[in-house]
Amino acid sequence: MEKKYYAFNLADVRVNDKYYDEALHLQVKNMLLLDADRLLAGFRETAGIIHGLDEEQCNVFMKGKKRYTGMWEDGLIGGHTLGHYLTALAQAAVNPGLSALEQKAVTERLSYILEALKECQDMAKGTEGEGFLFGAAFPGKEFRDNPFLQFDNVERGLQDLFTQAWVPWYTMHKILTGLNASFKIAGMPQALEIANELGIWIARRTESWSDEVNKTVLNIEYGGMNDCLYELYQINRELKESENSLYHPEYERFAAAAHRFDETALFEKVLSGQENIFKNVHANTTIPKFIGALARYETDHNETGYLEYAEKFFDIVISKHTYVTGGNSENEHFRGDNTLDAERTNVNNETCNTHNMLKFARRLYEQTGQKKYLDYAERTLINAITASQNHESGFTTYFQAMATGYQKVFNNLDGNFWCCTGTGYENFTKLQDGIFFEDEEKLIVALYLASELKTQDYSVSMECDFTVSDEVKITVIPHSGKAFGKDLYLRIPTWLQGDESVKLSGLGNNASSADTSDLILDRKDGFVVVPGDRIADGCDICIKWPMGITCHNLQDGKDTYAFMYGPYVLSARLGTARMKTKTHGVAVNVACEKAVESDNIIIENEKSVADFVANISNHLVKRDGEMEFDLVGTDRKLVFTTHYNQYKESYGIYWRYEV
Ligand SMILES: [Zn+2]
Repeated sequence: MEKKYYAFNLADVRVNDKYYDEALHLQVKNMLLLDADRLLAGFRETAGIIHGLDEEQCNVFMKGKKRYTGMWEDGLIGGHTLGHYLTALAQAAVNPGLSALEQKAVTERLSYILEALKECQDMAKGTEGEGFLFGAAFPGKEFRDNPFLQFDNVERGLQDLFTQAWVPWYTMHKILTGLNASFKIAGMPQALEIANELGIWIARRTESWSDEVNKTVLNIEYGGMNDCLYELYQINRELKESENSLYHPEYERFAAAAHRFDETALFEKVLSGQENIFKNVHANTTIPKFIGALARYETDHNETGYLEYAEKFFDIVISKHTYVTGGNSENEHFRGDNTLDAERTNVNNETCNTHNMLKFARRLYEQTGQKKYLDYAERTLINAITASQNHESGFTTYFQAMATGYQKVFNNLDGNFWCCTGTGYENFTKLQDGIFFEDEEKLIVALYLASELKTQDYSVSMECDFTVSDEVKITVIPHSGKAFGKDLYLRIPTWLQGDESVKLSGLGNNASSADTSDLILDRKDGFVVVPGDRIADGCDICIKWPMGITCHNLQDGKDTYAFMYGPYVLSARLGTARMKTKTHGVAVNVACEKAVESDNIIIENEKSVADFVANISNHLVKRDGEMEFDLVGTDRKLVFTTHYNQYKESYGIYWRYEV
């Protein structure tokens, strides 16, 4: 299906920014420290049981390795991590930011796991479990007697996390997505073979549902089963269309199975205009369903209603449920419309949600070409995703508090296999995603980040570090004998303070001029357009995007403000004295002690909060050459800094101001 714009392959873009490069390497190092046999243990045990192996034989097949502990991987949701891990390995395998040695290590790890999963599927051949892959624990004999019991229970509406079912379709979504990614991104043919076999098992299962059973299943979190099945369908369809024999002859069944997971009654709600549609609804259950709606449109552009569902839902989340960082949710749930100040707690902004919203935004941009999706992507990548990592350990957050005074809490290597740990693996192995997009006539610079794009016809390099300067230098170099035949579209940042300036200086012999004066360029749909004929033979383009402090309040907290400097959300440094944690939900660690008694700030020398905000550059003063900002003229002396790298101490993004 034609898109408006296309993202580049992950292999075509390399991030050169030092902080992002370190983030990638920390993540990959931790991923490689994991024991693949322990992540595979549950899959091997399941296959062994289906095949009829006894306990001892099973143990040998499992190479004597046990599942990881921590109540997730050794619980009924066990196996979800391997799904994320496959996706992340596939992304890492093609990431030009890794050395040849690192790429080799991740590629070997990916091949090893695929080989093992194939072996598991082979064990189940000719049984009712043919194609089935699953890695959950077996908490009782009844689960060993029936390795599909969680799926049976869901069909009966039974969902006790410890004794009946812990979202098995959600886990299946992660597994199938990981297999799709291993084929689509890393080009492993074996992954498609495994995905197709699994797809047939899933299709068989869904084909057995009555409408009533279907409804019951959809009442229990199922991730983006529609998304991953539409994706598998599309992969196969494209292979068939290009006469590649790898496609599965029955791939149409994947689209039918996907549609079984389209929750039309829910989708219709977003068109109703009613208020509080998502009040107390589980956020990360809901977001992937709407990404699945978009996936239906991606596979069939006649289904415009599904695009409408996706766009409308995205708008509701952004306009009514999203904090300044781009994150959403309180204790995993959306709260009432615009109930954000009242719901600032220690458990906001689940990482899975921002991971999914970011993916969603970029895919919506590809389909619609609307700039607002790129604006959101920048905000979220920097302030929620990059902000989710501990930059020394590489470990990542589950929640990020929006209440003032808590610290970020990170997973550890071998115990906290949370959902967000898995999305963390995915986030930091594809940091080059979404920097550039293209169509036949345009190259879109969507994100300003030091990076390099290499295509068959040309290369583009971008120098940028907004923590040091507001200047971006983009160099376009056509390959020998070719011309850069596109217009360059530069996204105008939402945080721009004043007018940008753009200077060109020619590289090629025919460069129209060594023009170093400011150019007046067209602006179109939120982009500055550098005409292709000016840069056909190569060019340096120097852009200055002036930045300053912007103030962001909450609709239910008109005097509760967060600050940004350029694209960076700022948070106050609150020290390390009070950083206690406790267990929350199912073995999730969260911050539980505030570093400040209150988040009230009294303004001393302005007549109103509005005046304070209007004159913010007098009150939040940037130190020369540093990303440190002193709050002055208030009863509290605070130092704000960029939130993305605040991982050592307690922090405060939002404060309530009064005169
Ligand atoms: Zn999560």
